[in-house]
Amino acid sequence: MVGIVIVSHSARIAEGVAELAREMGGDEVKLETAGGLDTPDGAIGTDAVLVMQAIERAWSDDGVLVLMDLGSAVLSAEMAIDLLDDGRRERIVLSEAPLVEGAVAAAVTAKLDRPLEVVAREARAGLAGKVAHLGDGEHTGPDGGADVESPGNADEGAGAGDDGTGRVGETVVAVLRVDLEHGLHARPAARFVQVASGSDAAVTVRNLTTGAGPADATSLNGVATLGVAKGHEIEVRSSGPGSAEAVEALQALAARRFDEPADAGSEGPAPATPRPAAAEGPLTGFPASPGVALGPARRWHAPELEVPESTEPVDPRTELASLEAAVGETAEAIARQRHDVAARAGEEEARIFDAHGLFLRDDALLGPAHRAIEHEGRTAARAWNDAVDHVARTWDSLDDEYLRARAVDLRSVGAQVLARILDVPMPAPRLDAPGILVAADLTPADTAGLDPATALGIVTAHGGPTSHAAVLARALGIPAVVGVGTETLMLPEGVQLAIDGDRGQVHIAPSPDVIRKIERARTARSAALAKAAARAGEPAATLDGTVVEVAANVGRPDEVAAAVAAGADGVGLFRTEFLFMDRATVPDEREQEAAYRTAAEALAGRPLLVRTLDAGADKPVPALGQEPEANPFLGVRGIRLGLDRPDLLLGQLRAVLRVAEDHPVRVMFPMVATAWELGKAREALDRAREETGVEAPMEVGIMVEVPAAALTAASLAAGAEFFSIGTNDLTQYTLAADRGNERVAALNDPLHPAVLRLIAETVRGATSRGRWVGVCGELAADDRATALLLGLGVRELSMAAVAIATVKEAVRSTSLEHAQDLAARALASGSAGEVRAVLDRSNDRA
Ligand code: PEP
Ligand code: MG
Repeated sequence: MVGIVIVSHSARIAEGVAELAREMGGDEVKLETAGGLDTPDGAIGTDAVLVMQAIERAWSDDGVLVLMDLGSAVLSAEMAIDLLDDGRRERIVLSEAPLVEGAVAAAVTAKLDRPLEVVAREARAGLAGKVAHLGDGEHTGPDGGADVESPGNADEGAGAGDDGTGRVGETVVAVLRVDLEHGLHARPAARFVQVASGSDAAVTVRNLTTGAGPADATSLNGVATLGVAKGHEIEVRSSGPGSAEAVEALQALAARRFDEPADAGSEGPAPATPRPAAAEGPLTGFPASPGVALGPARRWHAPELEVPESTEPVDPRTELASLEAAVGETAEAIARQRHDVAARAGEEEARIFDAHGLFLRDDALLGPAHRAIEHEGRTAARAWNDAVDHVARTWDSLDDEYLRARAVDLRSVGAQVLARILDVPMPAPRLDAPGILVAADLTPADTAGLDPATALGIVTAHGGPTSHAAVLARALGIPAVVGVGTETLMLPEGVQLAIDGDRGQVHIAPSPDVIRKIERARTARSAALAKAAARAGEPAATLDGTVVEVAANVGRPDEVAAAVAAGADGVGLFRTEFLFMDRATVPDEREQEAAYRTAAEALAGRPLLVRTLDAGADKPVPALGQEPEANPFLGVRGIRLGLDRPDLLLGQLRAVLRVAEDHPVRVMFPMVATAWELGKAREALDRAREETGVEAPMEVGIMVEVPAAALTAASLAAGAEFFSIGTNDLTQYTLAADRGNERVAALNDPLHPAVLRLIAETVRGATSRGRWVGVCGELAADDRATALLLGLGVRELSMAAVAIATVKEAVRSTSLEHAQDLAARALASGSAGEVRAVLDRSNDRA
């Protein structure tokens, strides 16, 4: 008697169908099931080994009929046959018959002891009753070039039988041409997989041009590793319910150019072979850190995590659960990133994360990993690592340079899962060799870990010029262009880049002419820097003798020595939140005191200005466990957090006070908006003084980052001895333009007259009470704006150490009279553009 195997993604469906078929065929029919994955909770999926075992259980010399549900069930069944020996393989029929009706018809026919061919035919005709009743109006082939094949002529490719025994019934086939510059790379491949997964049909795809495949069209790894390049033709082949619709949907997708943005076409940014830059011009983004750089494109490499060898026997259920949890958490993290990028940069830009998410649902990774755990006794870490490595090597071996680069994405997603399985912190990404780092975006922590000897330049797809990545790039003196767009992520590893951080340009495979220009600029810049550096240690005074304190912004005590060497007259902003980042617990009072003391000692008598914790929004500090907020930039951050968590604020103030006993220390509160907040902060300081008994004098000030503070500076001056203007936040709040969002980066311009007027108003209010005003936002580092700031009445400037020497030179080359004239003209301007024109004219004259 013919045996029957029911294959379904769901164990319950498989059992249910078998039960129904037994009802009709009787208990003696050899019916076996292979449903779901062999996990403790019977996860949805299919497994070739389970199918093979079911076939063996159902084995009969009369043969076995295998009925499958959708998608990977077909591939798993095909793979299962491959695992059997030749003699058996010939006596198996994979049937495209409808699962429920087919199983019932097959069971009834098998019981009559009919041969395999007849059982298969009856199964295939299982829908006849329904069709007779309801008609088959739906069952037509798609328009536009897709063929509906009859059993006799569909004899090639996945799902097609060559023996006419019913392995292919009605199959819908279409040939699509791929005209994308980078072929079916990750993003369009992800769209392809999403669309192919949208129906119950079993869809496979082949690269007709190279002969690669077939692959399961619902597997990103399967589709993308077919190596489909520009101009290739692919064949999609669909069987089972909804095949016509599935093929139609894929045709429509191809007609929409796989939903790729219009500008990602033939003039796309990532040629596998160098293109003449002069002909097509550079990519442009926002100038984020000055200077030029030349070198090969380098992408982050997934950090390598050691997978410990297990000496103990492992419990497959525990390991499967651990893999599942890690995959789930990583998928959530990727979804959050996607959400974040979609909000900041738009849907199109965010779609790259869909590809990352699909990796985590791909049977090509999960299948082998599950099998290694279940059948080979591997740990989750080992099984996952091996599966990722295996698939990544397939990507590595592709001809297409761009597609090869996708292995980096896969390894990076793989490392995220692995770190979660091993319960170790996500190690910092690294650059393998010197070059220009090309990344989606950089977190402050990523950037802080960069070594300027390896990261010659930075290009990011997202982010604006005042994002923290940009701030840190300037601090490290690494030329950077940010917010260039997702197309940068398609740059092949190693392609030569020339970047101009002053103009915000990225030249791909630059012509000799561009290289010469970049090199000349580099030489001129080094000469100017050398001249400025020679006098950096001397105080800076204007031509008419006004001394200006030019200080450094730092995030860690070990940066202070370099700042002093770069000519800093002190530290004008210690961003203490960096001491709190990238760790599971917050630093205690003693640890903080040690950090501030180290900084003060390195300053050798120069002033140290400590800003209390400014966490939240763009500076997340996970150790604080802050509640998620709908608008974190307008939420509990800066001093609001300090007042909300007095334990943190008091501890920090006590640590600062103890250092102030021995060194010249100033303290300031971030994000102050009202006199009430300042009053509360000062009460905390009084209490910290009482608790420590420290009486040493210490100047107390506030950051001016909120327009309200600028406009009420005169009354705030009652409680603040100085004001330090944070132009980064002041600009974003004045122009309502997120500092990290490249789509509004053009708006986020600190030279906008509205911002300049707030600076002028701060100075007016502060000086009316004899208080001094500094600037510690990024504008302070721009030597083209130095005279303007002095003219507005600013007398202290604090910046990334790398800018100190040139800003000191700018101070030395201006008179206050000239500066005030410049400020008056800038204040009277109507736009940031006009202000720039005023500055350019003045710089040209100088
Ligand atoms: C600013 O907002 O300008 C500033 C200096 O603070 P931060 O960049 O750390 O937010
Ligand atoms: Mg700020």
